[in-house]
Amino acid sequence: RYQVLAFDLGVDRIIAARVGLGGALLSREVVPLPPGERGFTAVVDLTAATARRLAEALGPLTHCAGIGVAVPAVVRSADGFVRFAPNLGWEQQPLGAALRAALVDALPDRAIGGPVGSPAVQVANDADLGALAEHARGVARGHDDIVYLSGQVGLGAGIICNGRPLRGHGGYAGEAGHMIVNPTGQRCRCGARGCWETEIGTDAILRAAGHEPGDGGSVRAVVAEASAGDARARLALYEVSRWLAVGVGNLVNLFNPELVIFGGELRDLLEVVEHDVVGRMGAGGLTVSREHVALVPSALGGDSSLFGAAELAFAHLLDDPLGV
Ligand code: BGC
Ligand code: ZN
Repeated sequence: RYQVLAFDLGVDRIIAARVGLGGALLSREVVPLPPGERGFTAVVDLTAATARRLAEALGPLTHCAGIGVAVPAVVRSADGFVRFAPNLGWEQQPLGAALRAALVDALPDRAIGGPVGSPAVQVANDADLGALAEHARGVARGHDDIVYLSGQVGLGAGIICNGRPLRGHGGYAGEAGHMIVNPTGQRCRCGARGCWETEIGTDAILRAAGHEPGDGGSVRAVVAEASAGDARARLALYEVSRWLAVGVGNLVNLFNPELVIFGGELRDLLEVVEHDVVGRMGAGGLTVSREHVALVPSALGGDSSLFGAAELAFAHLLDDPLGV
């Protein structure tokens, strides 16, 4: 039996899973990053230790076919080299190589190393992998033009055009969180001012609703507070729908997708903001490309990137890099 290990690296937690063929989720766990421990070495060590533990628990008849890792970063997927992960504070870090080195003796045969050019630890951008998973087995099945939004502390987009992932020249396309939407707005962790994620990243939404970062608040809780009548939460969601309309409207004009998928924590607020966002997007300007677009929640819960990481690991067994 073949299984892969899939990881979704976040800013404050790692999600780790064992996944079987066809996207069967066999185990899943959330490993919190201790506060302040989001440095490169700390995250590599924790990921590698978790991978070892999961690999050791595999039965004798089970073959670990590889490891897929989703990372919230501008990353070179050919070798898993992270160019920039603004919300982790990483720059130029060899994530793929470090994990391969840390796991070289932990997994049998083809799982580590593999043929030259096809290393078994595969790393790609979280939003790109989310798009891939939704396209393969989620809400975008059968839809060939989609924009997937990964709503985390940061915000990323995975774009599929004509059925194929949009990579860009270096493979870095889709950094929608760093589209500047508000040039007089807040400073972003990337260094620019007024990036889209400074308005609708989860930290921004929580702050607007009166939460402190790290107080355990969630977008889902803000939605609940707003529907219970909390004025601050309601205002926060009002602002969010404004900035969603700006950013989603721009993406829709650029890519003319059939679906814009709200993934990560963004899916928790789609229901309450949808009417407002669609209304604002249709309120004027160039509305033609927006005529047939649907805003939909991800079908894989908050785990689109995790499932995408598993897809990536399986695909490499077949020497297919999936185009991410
Ligand atoms: C990063 C992206 C990432 C997104 C969501 C952004 O800040 O630049 O690479 O996809 O956050 O995690
Ligand atoms: Zn930015």
